[in-house]
Amino acid sequence: MKKQISAIKGTKDILPREAKKWQRVESVTKRVLELYAYKEIRTPVFEATELFEKGTGQTTDIVIKEMYTFRDKAGRSLTLRPEYTPSVVRSIIEKRLYLQPEPLRFYYIGPMFRYDKPQKGRYRQFHQVDIEVFGEEDPAIDAEIVEMANYLLKELKVYDTENLVNSVGCKNCRPSYLKDLRSQAEEVRRVLCPDCQRKIKLNPLRIFDCKVETCREAAQTFPEITNYLCQECEEHFSRFCDYLDFFGIKYKVEPRLVRGIDYYTKTTFEVVSSKLGAKNALIGGGRYDDMMKEFGGPDLCGIGFAMGLERLISVVPFTDKKGKFLYLVYLGDESKRAGMKVVQFLRRGGVECLVEYKERSIKSQMSRANKLGAAWVLIIGEEEVKKEQYQLKNMATGSQVERTQEEILKIIRESS
Ligand code: AMP
Repeated sequence: MKKQISAIKGTKDILPREAKKWQRVESVTKRVLELYAYKEIRTPVFEATELFEKGTGQTTDIVIKEMYTFRDKAGRSLTLRPEYTPSVVRSIIEKRLYLQPEPLRFYYIGPMFRYDKPQKGRYRQFHQVDIEVFGEEDPAIDAEIVEMANYLLKELKVYDTENLVNSVGCKNCRPSYLKDLRSQAEEVRRVLCPDCQRKIKLNPLRIFDCKVETCREAAQTFPEITNYLCQECEEHFSRFCDYLDFFGIKYKVEPRLVRGIDYYTKTTFEVVSSKLGAKNALIGGGRYDDMMKEFGGPDLCGIGFAMGLERLISVVPFTDKKGKFLYLVYLGDESKRAGMKVVQFLRRGGVECLVEYKERSIKSQMSRANKLGAAWVLIIGEEEVKKEQYQLKNMATGSQVERTQEEILKIIRESS
């Protein structure tokens, strides 16, 4: 027996039936994002490791524990992207997109990689839809992207979701919060896991990301950042909430929503689904006003979100409509060749056709067409080849007619 090779833990195959659902979700998503004037951008799957160390942040779980980092043959340290924002920022700076008149609004759909413990809703290769906007300071945009996320979910018929919002302040107001948070965390040090004990000094904000139950309980007693916001952040947050009201978006302020990434400033938000279980975040995002500048680019603020496609797809309802296709039934080489030509003509005319190149009797070809759920069967024998008129069977009604290829195309087109 030859040894079988399995898929890597934490990855999954998207088989054709499910891929159809993915295609539908992706096409609805693209349509909605384009309604809000986002343009698609595509960047490489791997980048220099330092891009994420610097962007995502040295003290995040993503960078400390979850990156797929390797050396290439020239000895460079590369990383399979664990998230998307740093790549977009790099691309904008490198290609100087900010010098062009077009608004800096991008979307992207593709795989991300994190070496996290696989479980339901958490994979090592997963897919995200990301959107990013640069250069818009007005909190109206913060509300617009939450509104867009809600509209997208509605278009995908995903209900039972909730918007959680917060502000994580900025580099002016966060230090005094971190000081109090640190001293509070020190007091409960013994109940924290070793990782979180280290985080007290490094970045106590990251204790909120910990999944260990005792750390989560302890975090509930920590001070709330919303009580520490400077006037500018406070104003931004309250205007953001006003705009959400204006759009008619319901939300809940969640003062412990700090998200697992270091670069956030001011607004953070999540859309959670009650249908998802423990890993309930469908969408997560926020503002990152300092990143572009820190990467040596212009002083342009940024905001965006990421939506996990595996999680989204698990809650999108989907009825698999059978494709309407034609199956070619032929007997012998001459009719096979004639059939191939007719099929080529029909495909050019937009008809889905299936030809199986196997020697079979007419009867077994017919039962195969039936089994596969063909809408039409095209039957070609010696007689048909001579006349250039072919038998078209409508599998739903059972009726059969003899027609030229042009007439056949017309019948099929008119029926759909
Ligand atoms: P993040 O980039 O961590 O802010 O996550 C944004 C969204 O991506 C989450 O709300 C999830 O829907 C999805 N996501 C994050 N990590 C994973 C993962 N390991 N597996 C599947 N989906 C994920």
